[in-house]
Amino acid sequence: MIVLGIETSCDETAAAVVDDHGTVRADVVLSQIEEHRPFGGIVPEIAARAHLETLDGVIRGTMREADMEFAALDGIAVTGGPGLIGGVMIGMMAGKAISAAHHLPFVGVNHLEAHALTARLTDMVSFPYLVLLVSGGHTQILVAEDVGVYKRWGTTIDDALGECFDKSAKLMGLPYPGGPNLEKLAFTCDDHVSALKRFDLPRPLKGREGCDFSFSGLKTAVRQHVEKLPAGNLKQSDVAALAYSFQITAGEVLVDRCHNAIEQFFSTYPQSDKMPAFVVCGGVAANQHLRARLKDLTHNKKMDFIAPPLSLCSDNGAMIAWVGIEKLKRNMTDALDIAARPRWPLDPTAEKRPGGGIKA
Ligand code: AMP
Ligand code: MG
Repeated sequence: MIVLGIETSCDETAAAVVDDHGTVRADVVLSQIEEHRPFGGIVPEIAARAHLETLDGVIRGTMREADMEFAALDGIAVTGGPGLIGGVMIGMMAGKAISAAHHLPFVGVNHLEAHALTARLTDMVSFPYLVLLVSGGHTQILVAEDVGVYKRWGTTIDDALGECFDKSAKLMGLPYPGGPNLEKLAFTCDDHVSALKRFDLPRPLKGREGCDFSFSGLKTAVRQHVEKLPAGNLKQSDVAALAYSFQITAGEVLVDRCHNAIEQFFSTYPQSDKMPAFVVCGGVAANQHLRARLKDLTHNKKMDFIAPPLSLCSDNGAMIAWVGIEKLKRNMTDALDIAARPRWPLDPTAEKRPGGGIKA
């Protein structure tokens, strides 16, 4: 079985061809970072126009790389949400047109499900498993019970972690995209003890029950520290120390929340002989410090730590194609009148949260 996957829900125009053995036969990701850089963040209107201009070429390039004609595919899978609606609609229209023209089964994919199932593409992880999804728009702890069956145990009640990285980096005067630049800067901090003492930051919800997150207070505290620094050009060593403290704080919060989730996992799913998996995904999973902290935690808790390669952690078409394969195998296809959705919760039964969490 061979499926074309299309992803346009945020700031990457992406397509990939994947087969049911998990071989990625072609994978093209066109980032819009340069278009958004002057604005210091993603501008939805610019994103939609860029998808419109580039998607045809990205799909054509992907099919060329896979050395295939559309007619030889077994299906088309397209991100149907959640995401920036302009981009999602453009991807859906393109995918539906190919599906209609070549009489191919169509699957509208939940972007979050694609992140959650990537570990099955890369590592054949078996259900149930825990997922920490940390990206620019989402911060969630999920249990993947089966294809299409998820329990959302935690979400952010305000900002996503990637958003908090990006906004904090901007306050520190770092260029967009902030997350990776903040990590690079934190590496250059050479006095860790004094950095933590000087730039003490709050650990929102740490020590509290449950698996929810809150990051807006952390961002505010970063702003207050920046405002106290001498006016004018910020000193490199000052912001490096602040970036270091920020990263340590983010790591502590993630470990605390994931610790609760792991305890809940073992009591909810008393395991047989097999070590269950803990999967981390989303763009923030690229952060080496956070990865290391989560790896230690899961190792201590006897879970198998799975972090897909960076290219499959951030937005891409291969993860969308893979959901297409998982769903086509189960005859879970969609009619061509399926709508694009700005919000699409993976677990419709999960309690609504006041802030960012309501997105999904
Ligand atoms: P995504 O939303 O999955 O496309 O991922 C993008 C988000 O991941 C943005 O908020 C980035 O700033 C963040 N990100 C990417 N690399 C890193 C990193 N090394 N450390 C922290 N955040 C990162
Ligand atoms: Mg992205």
